[in-house]
Amino acid sequence: MPMDEQVKIMTDTAPVMIWIAAPYKRSYFNAGWLRFTGRTLEQEQNDGWMEGVHPDDLELYQEKYSAAFNAQTTFKMEFRLRRHDGVYRWVLDHGAPRYLDNGTFDGYTGSCFDIGDLPEFHRIERTLAAERLNQAYTRIKNLGENLSLTNVPNDELAAANEELAAANEELAALNEELTTTNEDLAESEYKIRSIISNAPFPIGVYNGREMQIVEANQAIMDVWGKGNNVVGKRYAEVLPELEDQQIYEQLEAVFTTGIPFHARNQRIELTVDGQKKTFYFNYSFTPLKDRSGNVYGVMNTAADVTDVVLAKQQVEQSEKTLYSMIRQAPVAMCIMMGPDFVVEVANKRMIELWGKPESDVLHKPIFEGLPDARGQGLEQWIDHVYRTGESHQSFEQPVVLLRNGKLETVYQNFVYEPYRDGNGKIIGVIAISNDVTAQVRAKERQARLAAIVESSDDTIVSKTLQGIITSWNRAAVRMFGYTQEEAIGKHISLIIPTSRLQEEEFIIGEIRAGNKVDHFETVRVAKDGREIPISLSVSPIIDEQGTIIGASKIARDITAQVAAQESTRRYTERLEIINLMVKSVSEDLDLNKILQKVTDATTELTGAEYGVFRYNQVGEAEPSYVLYTASDASRAAFETFGIRSDIDVFQTLFTNNRAVRIDDLAKNPRYGTRTSAADETSGQPPFASYLAVPVFSRSGDVIGGLFFGHAEPGKFTANHESLVVSIASQTAISIDNAKLYEEVKTLNDKKDEFIGLASHELKTPLTSVNAYLQILAGMPTDDKGKQFIQKALRQMKKLTTLVNDLLDISKIEAGKLQLKIAEFDLKKLMEEAIDLIGHTNNKYRIFFDSSVKTCNIYSDSQRIEQVLINLLTNAIKYSSGADEVRVSLVCTSEEVKVGIQDFGVGIPSEKLPYIFSRFYRVEDVNPNISGLGIGLYLSNEIITRLDGKLWAESEVGKGSTFWFTLPIKKR
Ligand code: ADP
Repeated sequence: MPMDEQVKIMTDTAPVMIWIAAPYKRSYFNAGWLRFTGRTLEQEQNDGWMEGVHPDDLELYQEKYSAAFNAQTTFKMEFRLRRHDGVYRWVLDHGAPRYLDNGTFDGYTGSCFDIGDLPEFHRIERTLAAERLNQAYTRIKNLGENLSLTNVPNDELAAANEELAAANEELAALNEELTTTNEDLAESEYKIRSIISNAPFPIGVYNGREMQIVEANQAIMDVWGKGNNVVGKRYAEVLPELEDQQIYEQLEAVFTTGIPFHARNQRIELTVDGQKKTFYFNYSFTPLKDRSGNVYGVMNTAADVTDVVLAKQQVEQSEKTLYSMIRQAPVAMCIMMGPDFVVEVANKRMIELWGKPESDVLHKPIFEGLPDARGQGLEQWIDHVYRTGESHQSFEQPVVLLRNGKLETVYQNFVYEPYRDGNGKIIGVIAISNDVTAQVRAKERQARLAAIVESSDDTIVSKTLQGIITSWNRAAVRMFGYTQEEAIGKHISLIIPTSRLQEEEFIIGEIRAGNKVDHFETVRVAKDGREIPISLSVSPIIDEQGTIIGASKIARDITAQVAAQESTRRYTERLEIINLMVKSVSEDLDLNKILQKVTDATTELTGAEYGVFRYNQVGEAEPSYVLYTASDASRAAFETFGIRSDIDVFQTLFTNNRAVRIDDLAKNPRYGTRTSAADETSGQPPFASYLAVPVFSRSGDVIGGLFFGHAEPGKFTANHESLVVSIASQTAISIDNAKLYEEVKTLNDKKDEFIGLASHELKTPLTSVNAYLQILAGMPTDDKGKQFIQKALRQMKKLTTLVNDLLDISKIEAGKLQLKIAEFDLKKLMEEAIDLIGHTNNKYRIFFDSSVKTCNIYSDSQRIEQVLINLLTNAIKYSSGADEVRVSLVCTSEEVKVGIQDFGVGIPSEKLPYIFSRFYRVEDVNPNISGLGIGLYLSNEIITRLDGKLWAESEVGKGSTFWFTLPIKKR
């Protein structure tokens, strides 16, 4: 086998890419490199190779390379290198400084390994794999040095090329020799064998179709794990486990076709030391041909990439794990890659949070997918994390997002973490976010509530079901005087009076039952022991599970309300007294009674112990107030106090006719300095509080004064004063009325006296005139004369009746009306009266309706006749348009009832109550009918005296009915 061919094969099939820098620029790239890049050595030399480096990685590479070069240290880095097909592949580059035998730095040798589509984030395993690979490379390098391939001169590239050519020539010559001389062959075989056996990667050479192993280095034997005694054996014999792994077929095909076979990352199961193990290999089967081109064997080179593949798998796995972890994370998570933050993976929660369809955001720069999130500071944070590697945390950060078409504020707790590759390079940002919108809102609500509670004017306290105070607002501090520190944690009995402790049991009982206690009026004690009347409203506090965990109470200080209620009550009471009093006083026309009532009522209203009315006797040179009325208990005290004292106080202080109110009489300078007081009685008034109110008449004269006293000072308030003043003014009206009434009564009496006298005086001449007329009527005269006499007699009768009526009035007023009681037939009496009226008036028909034959009663027949004639006369007199009067009589065993009905003008209902009054006439209905207004008065007096009743029913325009009843027997 020609030597150059074998060397060529070896370099061609070497599983690593090799480069040599001498010292700085690269002068050599092995076939593996050139095969990978698809370029020629000339293209790659010096900086030519850099054209294949991904522009994004070049700068970093150069930086790292220069740094290592300056320090002469080894370096490791990953970058993307363009493959022959134009695809950028990730390669792991490992450079090591090289020194000459004399120790001078000679440049760098590097190996490069295709890590292919290994994902961008890195794990230490891969670095380890690269480390191993580099070790392998170092061995290859040594091998190469042996082959004089890398022995590139330091300076001149041309020289290196020449030398390389020379070496090749040498090798060719060697090969020539090999084919000619056996010794040489042996020599070259030894050389090759030594190369093979020293190679750091597995090499085996198999001869013939039966694949007899002629060469197998330690590396390949280590891989096989079948011991070192393999040469001379058949491949299938040594590795029977490969039977069904297509390897035999591949070897067979290479042998038959002469076409080399390459495999990458091939999974191979090998039985090593009796145990089945899984390996991954990059391997090549290369046909070995003789001069005539016939395939005589196969060379097998391999690189154990198990570690790399496993690392890769692991990385893939860990990537998968990471992604699935992200997808299943209980919080929103995503990874954003590169400086544009392309969303690589995002879980459902994150997608939900963003509120966009997955396709809108996934695999796009984040702010392209979420334009609504721009300008809220997020870009800066993410950018900061990406540039500095410092993680960023935000708590309860509000972010406005257009979610499902609606602009919403979501609150986020989020963390931005740098996402680094195996070299620690930041390649992206991991975002972890927790939607705390609900909590923030709840907190906001809570805070708002707490602020409301805190600022409330109402006392709001919460406590547990055990009664332990859990909150205590500012109003509570104000009301009870305990600070929050003093109250919270204490039992609520802190503010409950001992006598009311059982109330708490009731309240807690209600709360436990889930009930509210509303407007419970009670009393609580403040820190200073003050009792505060309050209105309590207690509600259960319910937790999220619906369990009652405590109670909140709102307490309202009702001191003012209680006081107001009390004063309203008092006020109402007073008002009632006043009303009652004013009413009775205004109804009363008796001055004595009025003043007594006023004195009693005002004494009660003011709460005075003593109350009197002193009357100002008019006409005295100097006002002399005499005790007029006094409330029951007062007289003695006021008599002790003495009239003079009152007058003096009155005189001194009352001059401007205004009320005087003194809280403590003894301390009053004007009263206190009064010398005459000592002369009076004991010198000390029996009371401290003093109130004097003048009572005026309507004309403005002081009639007198109301005086009140109380042993305790300060008893009378401004309210009392104004109350008495207003009552006094009311009283004045009544007093005036009473006085007027008295005057009217006096005049009335005089008038009655006059009527009595006049009618008495009239009576005598009337009787004589009547007698003379009677005599004249009995004497013979002509018809005309008779007629005149009859007329004169009729007028006489009227006049007599009138005078009799007037006389009766004065008798009644004097209480001298005589009654003659005897039994008589009322029916007969009525018939006679109707007859009599019928004679004087023939226009009217008087119907008498009675079912009884006789109706005997005990009464005054003459007086009743007077009443009947009166009522019948009125019935005719006040019904000018009518022609009928109906009279009825009903007799029972007890009484008689007489009715006289007319169909005349009637009486307005509002006038009805007055028609039985003296001199009363309904003038507006019948202005042209004459009369004195005494008929009904007399009738009523008579019927009343006869123990009967007289009344009228009437309707204007329809007529009136007058009724009277009388007992059968005089009671
Ligand atoms: P006099 O008839 O003299 O006015 P009375 O005392 O008899 O006095 O009656 C008082 C008033 O009652 C009368 O003025 C009249 O207005 C009214 N009155 C009495 N009887 C009738 C009646 N039958 N119909 C209508 N009005 C009547």
